[in-house]
Amino acid sequence: MTQRLSPETEQAVRARIGYFRDLGVFDFYRRAVNPSFVTVSDTDSAVIAAIDTVTVTVREEIPAAHPDSALENAPPMPRAAASLPVLTEPAKSIAPKDRAAAIKAISDDLGNCTRCALHKGRHTIVFGDGDPNARLMFVGEGPGADEDAQGLPFVGRAGQLLNNMIAAMGLRRDRVYIANIVKCRPPQNRVPEPIEANTCAPFLFRQIDVIQPEVLVALGATAATYLLGGKNPLAALRGRIHHARGAKLIVTYHPAYLLRDPRQKKEAWADLQLAMAELGLKAPAK
Ligand code: SF4
Repeated sequence: MTQRLSPETEQAVRARIGYFRDLGVFDFYRRAVNPSFVTVSDTDSAVIAAIDTVTVTVREEIPAAHPDSALENAPPMPRAAASLPVLTEPAKSIAPKDRAAAIKAISDDLGNCTRCALHKGRHTIVFGDGDPNARLMFVGEGPGADEDAQGLPFVGRAGQLLNNMIAAMGLRRDRVYIANIVKCRPPQNRVPEPIEANTCAPFLFRQIDVIQPEVLVALGATAATYLLGGKNPLAALRGRIHHARGAKLIVTYHPAYLLRDPRQKKEAWADLQLAMAELGLKAPAK
């Protein structure tokens, strides 16, 4: 089946696939054609009819992140998949002078979002903050109480630590861009559910595609998971360069974790130095 989906349907289907993917279900195509399986997760017949169209596209994205996954034993991808667009492919380059307007357009699209359950507990959407032409972008997990109250990312104690980290790199906060995987505060600051993260993250991806940072820094495991498209222990991801959405990606600890365990600050600084090397930055003299 190769019909094009509406953006809304596509987003809904991809969120469901991402949810099951996070639960370890990788042979989705095989299961999706079995109605007894599909009806467990969805009663929307239009979505069910279209699910294999999106599934094959998602399947194209999985092998790099899951080299040992069950995909190795999955049936061959249908021929039609070759002609399908890769939905997460970065957008075409946007001129620096147009990026602020492009970011605003994404914010306008998001609107007073109720696309996932997190909208129920939020006070303010925390869209993102910083320079639309930033060379460096930080991505965290989700807003906390202070961020929810102020509508800005990383403004609490963890935010102060992030500001210090940015200053130590010789940068100003207003010259980088900061955003989160989800834009609404999860209850009790819990980790976002996959369905929530997969619903919200496409807006973050659009922000990244507009800004086109040279370096992305994933703050913590949740950011790394959704930027890389697969789960891995933080220890296995730190200390090397990954790639996501056209940028070099470096994984480090979330500042909130560093507040709980300051002994890891040295390790985090090593990660930031990796980012600085990629950007050609030198630490300011003390
Ligand atoms: S977390 Fe994202 S997708 Fe969910 S309601 Fe908030 S803005 Fe919308």
